[in-house]
Amino acid sequence: MERWQKILQSAVSDPAVIAKKFQLPEDTLRRVAGTFRFRVTKHFLSLIKEKGDGIFRQCIPDPAELEDDPDLMKDPLGEGPHALVPGILVKRYPDRCMLFVSGECASYCRFCTRKRRFGQKIDFDPARVEEGIDCIRKHPELRDVLVSGGDPFLLTDSRLESILRRLREIPHVEIIRIGTRTPSVLPERITVKLVRMLKKYHPLYVNVHVNHPAELVPKSIAALERLADAGIPLRCQTVLLKGVNDDPAILKELLQKLLKARVKPYYLFQCDLVYGTRHFRTPLQRGIDLIDSLQCWTTGMAVPRFMVDLPGGFGKVGFSPEHRIGSDGRIIHFRNYRGELCDYRDVPEEVPE
Ligand SMILES: *Cc1c(COP(=O)(O)O)cnc(C)c1O
Ligand code: SF4
Repeated sequence: MERWQKILQSAVSDPAVIAKKFQLPEDTLRRVAGTFRFRVTKHFLSLIKEKGDGIFRQCIPDPAELEDDPDLMKDPLGEGPHALVPGILVKRYPDRCMLFVSGECASYCRFCTRKRRFGQKIDFDPARVEEGIDCIRKHPELRDVLVSGGDPFLLTDSRLESILRRLREIPHVEIIRIGTRTPSVLPERITVKLVRMLKKYHPLYVNVHVNHPAELVPKSIAALERLADAGIPLRCQTVLLKGVNDDPAILKELLQKLLKARVKPYYLFQCDLVYGTRHFRTPLQRGIDLIDSLQCWTTGMAVPRFMVDLPGGFGKVGFSPEHRIGSDGRIIHFRNYRGELCDYRDVPEEVPE
């Protein structure tokens, strides 16, 4: 067993530990963790400075997860209906696809888009991943493959390498991207051995997921540095979350720290309409205002694109007048890249205090 695997084994998944540490009612935590899987690494837990802060909110079960909300869905992105191989390969755009290779994450984010799947323990059958790779081979238009999960870096080096090797053998696959949250939650996973393996499969990009500046501590910055030193271009996808990063000063600090760690902020996502996440929702206008507070006020490269992944699998869309075409109270009308119309139910603007 490698060192990172041992560290992962020491992650906290017993609600009693959290109840004691933060003086929270254990039965409530148990009820939430019984519905949506709970685990947090010791590293991520150590980043919490106080109960309810931006790290706490991301990883500690909250009773609000069990509240009903008619706007929220199990599969907001329509990944079920858009699957080429059910549960394994999703194609929503003309020339690229997403391949799910792992059902596990080091820490389970309370706002996860795939809560419906990773909310409970699932077994990921390697044979089905092979089926997904075969399917990519049969689709010559797929020039860009996003390897996702769960977290692909929770696979062993040899298992991950066998997937990358098979993808690289497909002549039409031009680029491979891997999405991971390990630099923030399990930085020990980014070993010298891992990056030595990854660099054999260039052009390979890694998209990390960082939401709060407190995630960028020396250990995680060193992990990012190992990836960057292997010539792997790094991007960050951040989710806009109420009480975590929906504040201009916090968001600016995060984006500037990312650039300093050689990570280009790529997308800022409106939190998807996933059930169990209503306490994280912000009005669309909040994201627009946040980007406005940054554009030209700081390095252009630090400013990500604010996007919403439209419910129903219509795809990602930005906020230019061609895409955000109108509104009717809480209903915002969007037009996607294919010209299709889609409505988004926004949260009401909060009353200023
Ligand atoms: C987001 C996503 C992609 C990648 O989109 P980019 O805008 O190229 O980053 C590809 N496939 C699916 C299914 C996606 O959700
Ligand atoms: S790391 Fe990603 S896939 Fe895993 S729980 Fe967090 S948001 Fe979901």
